[in-house]
Order: sequence, then C-alpha cells, then structure tokens
Amino acid sequence: MARTVDPWNACLNTPLQEDDKEIYDLIQKEKYRQYSGLELIASENFTSLSVMEANGSPLTNKYSEGLPGARYYGGNEYIDQIENLCRKRALEAFSLNPSEWGVNVQPYSGSTANFATLTALLQPQDRLMGLDLPSGGHLTHGWQTAKRKVSSSSIYFQSMPYRVNGDTGIIDYDKLEENAQLFRPKLIICGASAYARDWDYARLRRIADQHGAYLMADIAHISGLVASAEANNPFTFCDVVTTTTHKTLRGPRAGLVFFRKNKDELETRVNGAVFPSCQGGPHNNTIAAIAVALKQVAAPEFKQYAKQVRANAKALGEALTGYGYKLVTGGTDNHLVLWDLRPLDLTGNKLEKICDMANITINKNSIHGDISMLSPGGARLGTPALTSRSFKEQDFIKVAEFLHRAVQISVAVQEKAGNNTMKDFVAALQDNNDIPALKKEVEDFATSFPMPGFDPSTIATSVNSEH
Ligand SMILES: *Cc1c(COP(=O)(O)O)cnc(C)c1O
Repeated sequence: MARTVDPWNACLNTPLQEDDKEIYDLIQKEKYRQYSGLELIASENFTSLSVMEANGSPLTNKYSEGLPGARYYGGNEYIDQIENLCRKRALEAFSLNPSEWGVNVQPYSGSTANFATLTALLQPQDRLMGLDLPSGGHLTHGWQTAKRKVSSSSIYFQSMPYRVNGDTGIIDYDKLEENAQLFRPKLIICGASAYARDWDYARLRRIADQHGAYLMADIAHISGLVASAEANNPFTFCDVVTTTTHKTLRGPRAGLVFFRKNKDELETRVNGAVFPSCQGGPHNNTIAAIAVALKQVAAPEFKQYAKQVRANAKALGEALTGYGYKLVTGGTDNHLVLWDLRPLDLTGNKLEKICDMANITINKNSIHGDISMLSPGGARLGTPALTSRSFKEQDFIKVAEFLHRAVQISVAVQEKAGNNTMKDFVAALQDNNDIPALKKEVEDFATSFPMPGFDPSTIATSVNSEH
C-alpha cells in the first residue's frame, strides 16, 4: 500500500520556485549578474553543471564523522566509496605517489584547511612566518596589526611576516632568511592571494631547514596551475600543501590538505586535526563535487584551460601596460595581475565602485607600502573565471579597454568631487552618463559569451526584463 504525504511534509517535494519565491528570484538575479558581467575577481571561477549537481544532491543528508572505513555512524557504504574516490583523484590530479603523499578532503574551506594544518603542525604560541597581507599574503598566514591580532593564526600562534621588496614587488627571500635567524620559526608558510609571480620553493626549503621548521605551501589561488604543471611544483619541497577547491581548480567551495606520509606522523596529525580537533561531520555533497572537479582537472583539456588562463593574464597585463598603467612586478607569471593605481592618485575602492556600476567585477587590493586597508592603492584582476567562459587573448584586450574607460571615468569623477573622500566621490557620480553607457557595452559584450553551469536563456524572464 502506498502511503500518502502528511500535510506538514508537503513542502519537502516542492520545487524552490514554488516553495520559496523570494530566494528563487534572488538566485535568478544573481545568475543574470554572473552572466551579464565581466568577472575579474582572481579567486573566483564558474564551476560546472556536474559539480553543481553533485553539490546539490541528497549526499548533504548524511553524517559520516571519521574517515572511510572508520566512521562514527552507520550507513556509510557509498559515502566511503565517494570519499576514497575523491582522495584518489586528488592525488592523481597533482601526480602524487600514494606511498609518499596522502590527502584529507574534508575541510569546509581554505581557511579551515589552514587552521587544521596549523593545529596539526604546531603547539599553541609556536612561531610561524607567512607573507604579509599587504604584500599579497592571506589572513590565515598570521595576519595581525599593531592594534589587533586579526586572524586565529595570530591569536593562537606567534607570527612574524615576511614581505615583498618595495621596489621590485618580488618576495624578499634574503630578508626572510635574515629574520628567520632571529625569529626561529617552527613553520614557514608560502603562498599568496595577490602575488603575480611564482615561488622559489627550493630556497624556502633551505631556510626552513636552517631552523628545523616545517614548510607549508598554501596554493589556494594557483592549484589549477600547479596541477597542470603551469606553475612550479611545491610538492617537491614542502611537508604539507593546502588549497581551496573553488578557485583555479573550478570545483565547489572547500579545502584540501595534502601531507607527507613518511614524516613525523603527519598523516595521523593532519587527519586528527581536521576531525575531531577542528571540524565535525564532513560535507559529503561537497566531497562528491570535489571528486567531480578533480576528474576534470586530471583530463588533458584542463591543461589547455590552465595555459589559456595564463596567456589571458599576460595579454591583459600587456594591454594595461600599453595604456601606460603600472603593474606590481611589471607583469605576471600566473592567473592574475596586481594593478598599482597610486601613480593615478586613485584608490582601489573608487575604481571598484565605478566598475561595479558598469558590470565589471574587480576587487580593491592593498599594494605593499599601503597604510589603509579600506582605501588601498591597487586592484587585483584575474582571468580564471572569464577563461571558463571561453575568453581568449583578444577578448582580454577588449576587457583592458573597458577598464581603461573605467579609470578615465573614475579620474573625472574624482576631479569633480574636488577632494579624495569616498563620500564626495559617490555623490559626484550620481548623474554621470558615461557609466551607464559603459555598462551597456559591457553587458552586450559579456552576454555574447557562453555561460558555464547553466543555460542563461532559462533565467526567469521576470528577472531578465528588469535589465
Ligand atoms: C582564498 C584563500 C584562502 C581561503 O579560502 P576560503 O575558502 O575563502 O576560506 C586561503 N589561502 C589563500 C592563499 C587564499 O587565497
């Protein structure tokens, strides 16, 4: 006999569009925003339909604390197979030998992967060194200010930063070595969120070895390039490597921690740090989606994608330099350019504001030597997302032209505002006609490209027609 659905359970099989029109409509708007804009945030990407299918699956229902074969809950027959497949694919994607390397695929995000790694490698108040935030480093690498220990990585551990050279914008390895001799770190973290050049892992290993320190690479931004051998290989020299899965790897939002198996029981320490020290139940829907993304990463086509990401960044950088603009380090080796706006007497937050109004999504970014985090002197531009929309070099030359116009508008608005405050800047752009004109052109251009993950013609027309 077939049972009937109780009235209080009726909502459980109702599509989102009917069940929650408010959220549904906002998702439609966000889809149109993604489709109709130029996504230049270097840490973002457009994931695939198959990743989103796995991510939105009933795997979200399952508890599976522990590791495959050693769970605290029953019913994990298929979850175990999914996590094992994900671990296997993670090692394959980075061409790692399973007798030398292992991986934990449970971290909820890059930041939690990093905190679990610190928990595994250090005792409270042990000393670590990471790239300074204004030099392009990440918060989780020990960031603190004179007034405040901002990141848990500086609250629970003693941190000392290293920096880029003020003239060249390149990591100052000599100074790092010199300061390490005074500070004697137990851990050196390399990796960045806003650094356009590659890393000298061999040199970092030598510095770490002088102090018996661990060397950890956080390749959150460049993992797609590392996997496809379009960047130096940190696995040769590091003890632990962490990454996000949603940036150049183009998967769901999550993190991974790779560890050397034959050193200091790192396997037990990292796995124990992720669970039970820092997390509870793994997000199995996400782990399945990571597995799907990593299969794509291991396919030969991904190498072409990674090559194109770099070629596009180079083309974008050269086009901007062609307009006379200044880039930190003068160019790029990877997927991003760091644009120094200080010679224009313009700050990143103002350009970001104008670009936002013209459907160009960028982020303000501090440049080494900056004082204020809220009005930093630069902007960070990345090519991974638009390369997933099949942009090529000539398309990025067009993108540079749009950016050039956004700068010209910003400079004109700032002149009209008559001073440098953001409040007057916003007031001065209210009746500006150049911005809507630019927005229209950007929208026409962006909507002429394919959209990964969903069919733009299915975006609810009520949302579409508002534009
Ligand atoms: C993005 C990033 C992270 C953090 O990732 P979340 O998923 O946002 O927590 C960590 N390290 C680096 C270098 C990053 O760029």
